[in-house]
Amino acid sequence: MNPLLSHAGLPAFAAIEPEHVEAAVRAQLQANRRTLETVLAQPERSFSAVVEPLERMQHRLNRTWSPVSHLNAVMNNEALRAAYTACLPLISAYQTELGQNEALYAAYQHIAGREAATLDAAQRKLLDNALRDFRLAGVALDTQRKARFKELMQTLARFQAKFEENVLDSAAGWSRHVTDAELLQGLPEGVLARARAMAGARRLEGWLLTLDQPTYLSVLTHASNRDLRRELYEAWSTRASDRGPLARSFDNTSVIEDILRARHEAAVLLGFASYTEFSLATKMAHSPQEVRGFLEQLAAHCVPVARRELAELEEFAGGELQAWDIPFWSERLQRERYSISDDELRPYFPLPRVLQGMFGVASQLYGLGFRERSDVELWHPDARFFDLLDGAGNRIGGFYLDLYARSQKRSGAWMDECIGRLDFGAQRELPVAYLVCNFLPAVAPRPALLTHDEVVTLFHEFGHGLHHLLTRARYPSIAGINGVPWDAVELPSQFMENYAWSEAVLPHVSAHIENGAPLPADMVGRLKGSRIFQAGMRAVRQLEFALFDLRLHSEYVPEQGSRLATLLAEVRARVAVVPHPEFNRFAHSFGHVFAGGYAAGYYSYKWAEVLAADAFAAFEEAGVFDSGTARRFVDSILSRGGSRDAMEAFVEFRGRKPDIQPLLRQFGMAA
Ligand SMILES: [Zn+2]
Repeated sequence: MNPLLSHAGLPAFAAIEPEHVEAAVRAQLQANRRTLETVLAQPERSFSAVVEPLERMQHRLNRTWSPVSHLNAVMNNEALRAAYTACLPLISAYQTELGQNEALYAAYQHIAGREAATLDAAQRKLLDNALRDFRLAGVALDTQRKARFKELMQTLARFQAKFEENVLDSAAGWSRHVTDAELLQGLPEGVLARARAMAGARRLEGWLLTLDQPTYLSVLTHASNRDLRRELYEAWSTRASDRGPLARSFDNTSVIEDILRARHEAAVLLGFASYTEFSLATKMAHSPQEVRGFLEQLAAHCVPVARRELAELEEFAGGELQAWDIPFWSERLQRERYSISDDELRPYFPLPRVLQGMFGVASQLYGLGFRERSDVELWHPDARFFDLLDGAGNRIGGFYLDLYARSQKRSGAWMDECIGRLDFGAQRELPVAYLVCNFLPAVAPRPALLTHDEVVTLFHEFGHGLHHLLTRARYPSIAGINGVPWDAVELPSQFMENYAWSEAVLPHVSAHIENGAPLPADMVGRLKGSRIFQAGMRAVRQLEFALFDLRLHSEYVPEQGSRLATLLAEVRARVAVVPHPEFNRFAHSFGHVFAGGYAAGYYSYKWAEVLAADAFAAFEEAGVFDSGTARRFVDSILSRGGSRDAMEAFVEFRGRKPDIQPLLRQFGMAA
């Protein structure tokens, strides 16, 4: 039996081999297509006869696919990657087919209309979400428009890929050969070693600086030679544009116009006034005006603070600063004021202590229990599994931890769904999550020692995990983080980060490896100081990106084109404090928005920060472990998944709409 097709219990990680992957995915897709045919062939059009079988079959596909994509991320090898990659187009074709299925769309419409009165609110929301997604996929268009829509989607995919390619090619096309060590003064050994290796690979003497992000950031932050910093800044900020050392070789100017034109036309085809409206159709924020107002309101508070911070930095540096001076001098100022090294911090955060403290926070807040299991199949000796228990000791879910860096593991940290919650008919499945990080492994006999940054990361992913695990939604498509708008999905994770900074929690997550002492007060002070260091300057940069993205997609008129330079200049005049040289072509490499999924959605970063800070403020007002507040937070937000409008859920919890003041306070910027 193919272990990926056995959907009982936890995945059989020890038995899964690359050769199982494509066979299992093909078999599951075929089974799902048969189910869909059967469902549509029978005459009944009801929630239980149509929607529930669909939910079940999607759940089965996820159960087959989730272990595969997980292993591909944490135990990558050539055979597995090949199997994984071979399945991607199969799955994507299947999803498109489902989203474009007119008979299925008609069935959902019929059910939403006829059964509205007898369905519960979560079931109605599930239908609303599904109908919305059908429409956004173009299923309701007439034949001619549908064909045009499909064509636009394909063109867009091509343009966006081209945008990304140009950025990569222009970065790869630039390098700087250095033979004079003097020029590289200040650069960390790691960067120098890399530059020597790059030079060696091309049989050159000395060093070769390349235009990858770590090298770029390192030069800007550490190189004392100002001309070198300026040179890299110019190369970086003119990537894929008409300016700079590779001017017009990989120019995205017309690609940007193509992307904006196609997005606008697609949005208009679906009945929206702009691409921003299309983007907001699936988000917590409801209108372009609401987002604009939100960003402008934040800007009004942050710009004066950012101006003061820049003035302070210039005073420290002893003169006027250009864009390529800011990271360099900021690093020095921060070091002088709050210097605290990772080597000083690590001994205070042994992993067992951090886990114990973090689980303690969840017990105190939500009455949860944690029980490590030794009888669960794992993919690597470092991985662990925990049962999650409710206050009465009942098992309500479980999660894997895989916390250490190793080769064949993707970098970064994330939470992913292993099993989604399903609880209807005769079937009941508890949610299971993967929490993955890339910390330095333990060196026996010592446990792994974390930096405070890493503690915050762990709390963040744990917050996503609790969102997935504490769900009470019964249908997988709206359970946990599924169906949660992505400008709201970071609320539970960023909320949880606050506990890693809380003075009530720090003594319980820290204990010096030698003497058990908690993190001393002066180190806490320096940590907190560096958290809010230049918060204003960082915020206005994010606001600049967000406002630019928003206006670009809201104000687009085909006859005028993008008005890219004008809009960017207007936005900068209002919110930017660091001077931008004339040659700066930031938009030409703004991949989040032109190649990725953040189009007309870049504001989401700040939006979620505001939600998280405001939610945490409710706890600060009542006590950070107040049980009544915690219960309401679970009832209104953590347990709801996508079963309810995110703004309504927030208002239910907070008694009002989100307020920006708590975030401003958190970063020392309140009026
Ligand atoms: Zn996150």
